[in-house]
Amino acid sequence: MKDVHKRYGDNEVIKGVDLTVQDNEVVVMIGPSGAGKSTVLRMINGLETTTSGDVVVDGENIAQSGVDMNKVRQNIGMVFQHFNLFPNMSVLQNITLAPTELGLMSKEQAEKEARDMLEIVGLTDKIDAMPAQLSGGQKQRVAIARALAMHPDTMLFDEPTSALDPEMVGDVLGVMRKLAKEGMTMVIVTHEMGFAKEVADRVIFFGDGQILEQGTPDQIFNHPTHDRLQTFLKQVL
Ligand code: ATP
Ligand code: MG
Repeated sequence: MKDVHKRYGDNEVIKGVDLTVQDNEVVVMIGPSGAGKSTVLRMINGLETTTSGDVVVDGENIAQSGVDMNKVRQNIGMVFQHFNLFPNMSVLQNITLAPTELGLMSKEQAEKEARDMLEIVGLTDKIDAMPAQLSGGQKQRVAIARALAMHPDTMLFDEPTSALDPEMVGDVLGVMRKLAKEGMTMVIVTHEMGFAKEVADRVIFFGDGQILEQGTPDQIFNHPTHDRLQTFLKQVL
């Protein structure tokens, strides 16, 4: 992202963001509510438009019109706070829908892929379950499997554990940890500071529509310099 701004009417919510994410990098974004973390994440895969600035994904400026967004999104998986599974479809159907509808895989290929991805998230036994029969943590792991089935280069996570009961959080973070270890490029918005410390290559503190500070987990959590970051950490740690 290069000098990205976003305005809703007179309200400028993103005030000039410059951000480069490298291949295999795990970037964790933290910051107070309303700071603009979700907006930035959603701009990376074009779910949110920009008012000005460039968003370059794999060499292509997706902030310009005429870009095939479906193609861009095939390479960028996204996982939301509220799972967004299709309630009237089984786990298997949830995972195979996009790859088959988009003509990327045969039904057989997509089902094999679904099995493999469910293996990764530890839910092979739930392949025929309906979303309503799953716990929150299981639903979120299906949502991750669904995103992975497209073989994305990059995964975006927007507070993937915030809607979960505490005992479910560990399973979902465990899957994300595994992806990070395997070299997946990830941008993660989370309030799980322990996870951020452990997994992030870089932590970004976002406040008031801007990147206020960024660095290694050690720099951000043990040696914060910005007073807003110091205040934020006192509140959340
Ligand atoms: P949280 O931690 O609560 O999820 P956030 O950092 O993700 O917060 P955003 O959701 O990105 O914050 O919102 C940034 C700002 O943009 C907020 O002030 C919000 O009110 C505003 N905003 C977001 N979407 C819209 C919209 N569709 N119309 C108007 N304002 C919006
Ligand atoms: Mg948000």
